[in-house]
Amino acid sequence: MNNPFFEEWTLPHGAIPFDRIQAEHYKPALLKGMEEEDREIEAIANNPESPTFENTIEALDYTGALLKKVGGVFYNMLECDGTDDLLNLAEEIQPQYSQHELNIALNEKLFERVRIVWEEYKAKDFEGLSVAQQRLLKDRYEGYLKAGATLQGEARERWRKVSEQLDSLTLAYGQNVQKATGDWSYQLDPDKGDLEGLPAFAADAYKQNDYKLTLLAPSYRPFMMYSSRRDLREMLYKAYNSRCTSGKYDNTENIRKIALLRQEKADLLGFQSFADMRLTNTMAKTPEAVNNLLNTLLQAYKQAGSDDVKEVATLAQKDGIDTLMPWDFSYYSEQLKKEKFNVNDAMVKPFFSLEKVKKGVFGLANTLYGVTFHKIDVPVYNPDVECFEVIDRDSTFLGLLYTDFFPRETKRPGAWMTEFRSQQRNPQTGADERPIVQIVMSFTKPVGQPGEEGYTPSLLTYDEAETFLHEFGHSLHGLLTKCTYPSQSGTSVAHDFVELPSQFNENFLGKKEFLDTFAEDWQTGEKIPQQLIDRLHEASTFQAGYLCLRQLSFGMLDMAFHSLGRTEKNKDFQVQDFEVKPTERFPQLKDVEGFEEKAMEPTQLLPHVDGTMMCSAFTHIFSGGYAAGYYGYKWAEVLDADAFAVFEREGLSNPQTAARFRHLLESGDTIDPAELYRQFKGEDPSIEALMKRDGILK
Ligand SMILES: [Zn+2]
Repeated sequence: MNNPFFEEWTLPHGAIPFDRIQAEHYKPALLKGMEEEDREIEAIANNPESPTFENTIEALDYTGALLKKVGGVFYNMLECDGTDDLLNLAEEIQPQYSQHELNIALNEKLFERVRIVWEEYKAKDFEGLSVAQQRLLKDRYEGYLKAGATLQGEARERWRKVSEQLDSLTLAYGQNVQKATGDWSYQLDPDKGDLEGLPAFAADAYKQNDYKLTLLAPSYRPFMMYSSRRDLREMLYKAYNSRCTSGKYDNTENIRKIALLRQEKADLLGFQSFADMRLTNTMAKTPEAVNNLLNTLLQAYKQAGSDDVKEVATLAQKDGIDTLMPWDFSYYSEQLKKEKFNVNDAMVKPFFSLEKVKKGVFGLANTLYGVTFHKIDVPVYNPDVECFEVIDRDSTFLGLLYTDFFPRETKRPGAWMTEFRSQQRNPQTGADERPIVQIVMSFTKPVGQPGEEGYTPSLLTYDEAETFLHEFGHSLHGLLTKCTYPSQSGTSVAHDFVELPSQFNENFLGKKEFLDTFAEDWQTGEKIPQQLIDRLHEASTFQAGYLCLRQLSFGMLDMAFHSLGRTEKNKDFQVQDFEVKPTERFPQLKDVEGFEEKAMEPTQLLPHVDGTMMCSAFTHIFSGGYAAGYYGYKWAEVLDADAFAVFEREGLSNPQTAARFRHLLESGDTIDPAELYRQFKGEDPSIEALMKRDGILK
């Protein structure tokens, strides 16, 4: 059968033969890929030789070459060009895929070999292994540990049950949120003044949706921001924030059970709490470090946050509002912003045509790291997609970068970076196999062709240019990487570290040196005026205090639910007692709303509204992957501001500073991220740079 996934790819640099890949090629290739990996795994598990680092740990990192080859394309195409064929196949293949992964995770013979290698090296203080190899061994061993591989008998049985229950509870939680969000709507009546205050673009959008107001973000957000109808804002706020607090889609019992079952997992493995268990392989490492950061930021930002709210409240008083309520905040905040800064997207866009921003963004990588980008002519999956050959300062090839900038019906909205192929050293030849990376965005498409009457290029807003820099930062992390093992290369780093390279890049947008390299009016060539840059800069710190406290409140809520811990009272619970009795074991969960209020209390700047909750629809932590991880957003912000301050101190294009940062980008997960950061800066990060950037510290 003529399936391109079964052949060697012969295009330049191993570019993907998109012209030959058809929807029907995926399934047989995915199935064969799983089959092959199963065989490889069996061979490692049943190897008659005694386990060594090479024949077990290293070998495990290189299994599934075919599956990675086809999966790398398939799962990206699902997002970028998700035709029905592909979506159906994804659904069809999912159970097999999960089973395949589970078989590897629960393979006892395999774990036994990993354990032996671990014990042997641990006994001799890891002598004979490089830092990266030690880390690989530790990650592999702890991965098994955290998947319950060491549990025996009753505990093992209980672990399996808890995992199954958690799977279905988190799924049910997410579905409840989705349904509750989708179910609610309100019929706006333009004749009764329901559209009062809305700008034309927003009013038009509601009209196109038959004047239906919903809880989906594109409907909810502009209404809270622009509607002058306080009664309707209140109604909308209450509807949104009471989702899944009672009735058909009530999530409160799900919350209790999820929190308790996660605690049980920690108990079974001997950790104090789920947060303790979850954080071992992050940069933060412990709940204490996380709580310490959250509390330090709280102290530093609290005054600014409460000043921000006071300023908004003063404006609202002019409309006779004595107590500023949560449904007033966005509305008056937006008015205040307009009054103070007078900047909007329309003023910025002419200076940010996509072609010019691209020049600036690619140019930045050239200034800092000497890297260049050359468009090459290879098959792509859509005419909007381009492919670039990325070349290092010394002319060596670094990788391929695909860009996909415009929305399509078959493409998920939003922006992200992915890899078609990750970097690794070939296990047989030792050759450096370079990565194939992609950045995806959803910018406005150009109208017409250059030179034609009525042509308008793709013009970006300030936020969109920032997004471009962000995703490009991730792609550099993927492209510059120089690792040996695929599981350590590129962006495969701790979740509280992975946003450093991306957010770091965003900082340049506020700098005149950078803007001067590209930001010119696409028609007249006029450079972006200094005055506009200054106003944009000022506007970027607007309400930094309030916004920080909001993020902290989510982080603290997340930590509260995942730090239940063993206490004097409940420490005697035994495996056989593990029936789900959340409120008996943790009485504080009886009143979920009260639990939340208490956890968020230190950060609250607006009155609590009875019957509303965050946790009943907090999908990040109850049905996504952010449990005991939400803090990561703030953690990475501290890092990126701190790293950028080093550049500001030493010179934005200082070659030595850039070389040190490049080393950080090259290192992937071969070394502890805290240590890696110290290698860049010479010391640990501090929150001061972030406070300065936010205008909290003058
Ligand atoms: Zn990111």
